Amino acid sequence: MRLRVFAIVAVLLAAGRVLGAEPVHIGILGFRPAAEEQLRWQPLVDYLNNKINGFRFDCQVLGYETLENAIAERSVDFVLTNPGHYVLMTHRNGMSSPLTTLVPIEHGRALSSFGGVVFTRAEQGGIRHLADLRGRTIAATTIGSFGGYQAQARALLELDIRVSEDARLIQTGMPHDRVVAAVLDGKAEAGFVRSGVLEAMTREGKLDLRRIRVLDPRKVPDFPFLLTTALYPEWPFAAMPGVDGDLARQVAAALLALPHDGNLARRLNIRGFNIPSDYEPVRATLEALRLPPYDTAPVFTVSDIWEKYRWQAVVGAALVGVITLLSIWLGLLNRRLAVDQRQLDRQAQAWLGLLTAMGEGVYGLDSYGRCSFVNPAALAMLGFTAEELIGEDVHALIHHHREDGTPYPSEECPVSKTRKDAQVRHAEDWFIAKDGTIFPVAVTIAPVSGDGQRGIVVVFRDISEHRRLETELREEAATDALTELPNRRYFLAEAERHVARMVRSEEHRAAVMMLDLDHFKIINDTHGHAAGDEVLRHLASLLREILRKGDLVGRLGGEEFAVLQINASAEEALQLAERLRQRIEASAVPAGGRDLHYTASIGVTSMAASDASVRAALQRADTALYRAKRLGRNRVEWEMPVAPSQNTARITSR
Ligand code: GH3
Ligand code: MG
Ligand code: MG
Repeated sequence: MRLRVFAIVAVLLAAGRVLGAEPVHIGILGFRPAAEEQLRWQPLVDYLNNKINGFRFDCQVLGYETLENAIAERSVDFVLTNPGHYVLMTHRNGMSSPLTTLVPIEHGRALSSFGGVVFTRAEQGGIRHLADLRGRTIAATTIGSFGGYQAQARALLELDIRVSEDARLIQTGMPHDRVVAAVLDGKAEAGFVRSGVLEAMTREGKLDLRRIRVLDPRKVPDFPFLLTTALYPEWPFAAMPGVDGDLARQVAAALLALPHDGNLARRLNIRGFNIPSDYEPVRATLEALRLPPYDTAPVFTVSDIWEKYRWQAVVGAALVGVITLLSIWLGLLNRRLAVDQRQLDRQAQAWLGLLTAMGEGVYGLDSYGRCSFVNPAALAMLGFTAEELIGEDVHALIHHHREDGTPYPSEECPVSKTRKDAQVRHAEDWFIAKDGTIFPVAVTIAPVSGDGQRGIVVVFRDISEHRRLETELREEAATDALTELPNRRYFLAEAERHVARMVRSEEHRAAVMMLDLDHFKIINDTHGHAAGDEVLRHLASLLREILRKGDLVGRLGGEEFAVLQINASAEEALQLAERLRQRIEASAVPAGGRDLHYTASIGVTSMAASDASVRAALQRADTALYRAKRLGRNRVEWEMPVAPSQNTARITSR
């Protein structure tokens, strides 16, 4: 009875303690039916309730989703879950660092870390290392498995092999035995399994280890299983944020104090709890494989970028600055160039206008001597089209012959000379139009340079009219207007030239004749000045008619005329003079309605070697003429040239 009372009191006390205690919820990730798992973990809950006063612990074994909801709603205070899930929950809900790490017993061995194994059939050729897996068929349970896929995928990623892209993956589903079977059956060339699986299968008689080859096996001290990948920590036990620090400390202490391999541990099928492992490799693996929570692109803040890429940012900003400044500078330069261009265009237009409007012909030659431009005035004068000249050798088209019809070699052309010596030249020359007409031109040839090229500009003017006027003026100045015979000045100059030529050729035969009308004053006075003019013209035509080609005749003044007979002997000269006298005497000049008759006196002499000039001979002829007048007019008188030893002799006709 006492005992029963004691028991009731104890239960009441316990109940009172429990009833007044604060509830503490532990969320545990479970795979098997919740009730079964709940039973498995209950001893741990009891243990904590026993160890820690003032709190009422309970546990809820939950699937992924329900556990995540519970964590999000903060309806659990502590969480025991697998490492990958823990990293995800930490990321999403800010769970604390693990208080402890579970040491499970797996395949009879207790370990606080695990890893992945990559293997092939022993007789498989060509696959010796992880690097040989590119393009191969690989079997794995499921990509959600950390030890059965993610750890291996991470190891391959370090070799730049992405299993999802660079290999063909066969997902067999759980358990891991299926992966081993797929490889051994040749369905896959390699397989991924969690560490410990191969040894357990061997122990159970399901596998002969000699039939497989582990790729790049790693030896880790105190790790008893075949291993290819890095080692990762087992399940963490963590507190939710906001859980009283003292409570968390007590829970951690209680779990660590749980005797390894003790009764309770055996009932829980674990070895116990250890101090927390480092879960960073797990996090890094999820990040590298871009698995949740790292499956979305990370969000960077400006300060993140600044922190990480400070120098690049500074250099980049400097570059952007420099590029901006350069762009502005280029923009300004461009604007200035555009303005300059417009000015140049205007100038070019003005020049073009000038060239077009110019009366002078202008054409240009490039450095090869080919026509590069030509203005309308030049085209009009030459009769060519621009197409016919541009690009052509202008000399060959308009300058190939001289005025006298002889060929005009290009190298003698002043344009070619200026091309050679770059000297400005002014010249009078002849150009040939397209229709073959040749016309005189005044040309200016000047070198020009631009764009590093040397060319030539030729400016020319048709001087035909100028030449014609010039000739006219010259003739006017040399001709007597009334009779159109050479005047005194021209006669004398021309006679001197004849004589000089004669002296050079040592041909001294020439005669000089002076003629004066008899009593001309009376004709004028009787019949009028016009009638006198008519008589003068009549005499001029008579002279032209009678004289030989090559003889020179001129009106020396008034009614006085002179004749230079080239290559005529004294006899011939006298005969001519007499014939002339007779023709004059016989002629009748119609004037004022009647016929006028007139006569002339003529003095003749021969040119002598001693004559210094034609004037000396004219002087002698004049002496003869004077004598003819004196002797009665209408007669011819001869005056002998003065030879050193000879006296003057007279020959008189009539
Ligand atoms: P002589 O026989 O001595 O020569 O007598 P002349 O009357 O001919 O005398 P002279 O030679 O001295 O006279 C020249 C005259 O000729 C004078 C002038 O009036 C005339 N005469 C001169 N030039 C012209 C002219 O162009 N036309 C005309 N109608 N008469 C002229
Ligand atoms: Mg006279
Ligand atoms: Mg006279």
